[in-house]
Amino acid sequence: MNRPLTGELQALDRAHHLHPFTDFKALGEEGSRIITHAEGVYIHDSEGRRILDGMAGLWCVNLGYGRQELVDAATEQMRQLPYYNNFFKTTHEPAVRLAEKLCQLAPDSINRVFFTGSGSEANDTVLRMVRRYWALKDKPHRQIVIARENAYHGSTVAGMSLGGMAPMHAQGGPCVPGIEHIRQPYWFGEGRFGEGRGQSPETFGQACAQALEDKIRELGEDNVAAFIAEPVQGAGGAIIPPESYWPAIKAVLAKYDILLVIDEVICGFGRLGEWFGSQHYALEPDLMPIAKGLSSGYLPIGGVLVGDRVAETLVEEGGEFFHGFTYSGHPTCAAVALKNLELMEQEGVVARVRDELGPYLARRWAELGDHPLVGEARSLGLIGALELVADKSSGERFDKALAAGNLCRDLSFEKGLVMRSVGDTMIISPPLVITREQIDELVALARQALDDTARRLG
Ligand code: PLP
Repeated sequence: MNRPLTGELQALDRAHHLHPFTDFKALGEEGSRIITHAEGVYIHDSEGRRILDGMAGLWCVNLGYGRQELVDAATEQMRQLPYYNNFFKTTHEPAVRLAEKLCQLAPDSINRVFFTGSGSEANDTVLRMVRRYWALKDKPHRQIVIARENAYHGSTVAGMSLGGMAPMHAQGGPCVPGIEHIRQPYWFGEGRFGEGRGQSPETFGQACAQALEDKIRELGEDNVAAFIAEPVQGAGGAIIPPESYWPAIKAVLAKYDILLVIDEVICGFGRLGEWFGSQHYALEPDLMPIAKGLSSGYLPIGGVLVGDRVAETLVEEGGEFFHGFTYSGHPTCAAVALKNLELMEQEGVVARVRDELGPYLARRWAELGDHPLVGEARSLGLIGALELVADKSSGERFDKALAAGNLCRDLSFEKGLVMRSVGDTMIISPPLVITREQIDELVALARQALDDTARRLG
């Protein structure tokens, strides 16, 4: 693409396009980057730059870009049946086959799926399902869902309400009632340097799980329907919980008979080296919202995997469930998702993340911990984070006005690497087909971005 066309598109973009999660005015002044094409783990922009996509788009392009098999699956399906719905006792082969495949891959106690168009819609569906479940069980007062601060569960009103992002709650009026938030297991921020200063990760993990029990007692156990959480919090800053956290949470939920909803929108489909993050942490969720990596982002599709306990009640006692989306189980999206899962299986992508790439990234990424700007370098599977600090020993952060994370993100992009910033936490989540050599390249580019950031911050 030539430069005049870049300018023309930027002008039209500025005039007509409101971007998600964007300061509309600031973007208008800067102009957007225009991404033109992509292959493997690289994206290309209209200025002719090739950039290593360290975020797999938005944590979703698990199989990487340019997979002809996925294009063919979409083309064939569009020729045969581009669209039909699953309402009113109809269905089609792609939705049925995808449902079967998902239930094969999921933990044993999950044998049903409800399709949606996105992760946000999946979490809206979760909220309706858990409340319906308890109403059918003659416990209609079990309405409250406990979620975590700084969690991300989507941008619809229910998704935003379940999420724990304060800036989102502050915009757009009241949240959906009956949702409560507890602390997140963010050891670097709160266990090591924050209010729990100096606690070991294990003690801190226990304390965060205790917060769940405290909240249940405060609300009254008979009023709590479910607890929802991501296995590793993604958009909140790639927050990997201490090992003590999930076993302690499981014990609390079992004690009070509360449903467990594990949001697998990021961690599902191989990110942590298992098909689902729940399998990595030996969790037995009642519901699992999914999206993103389900189709490697090639087409929009999501869903809720529903465990037997909830499914049997909804099926046997529920009557009609007044809920669904025009694109629930869209045949073209389902055909692409099915092909995506088949390719991942054939190519052994998930086992490779667990046995080879995850451990390799862990070793190489940890080396960045020696950089003067880095307070902690952590990773699990193919998700990683760097905590930027002004002082390594005290964990003191940079003045917020310096926006060190955004600076590092922009300098990283200039160098040829997409790294995302959440405050002053830098995040990566590359395609699962990345090679060891490309991991080396990613780490080298991240180091250069850190060096440039350090120079700019003086
Ligand atoms: N849940 C989690 C954990 C996510 O990270 C996201 C998106 O980033 C969502 C839900 C929402 O998914 P979508 O953007 O497809 O609506």
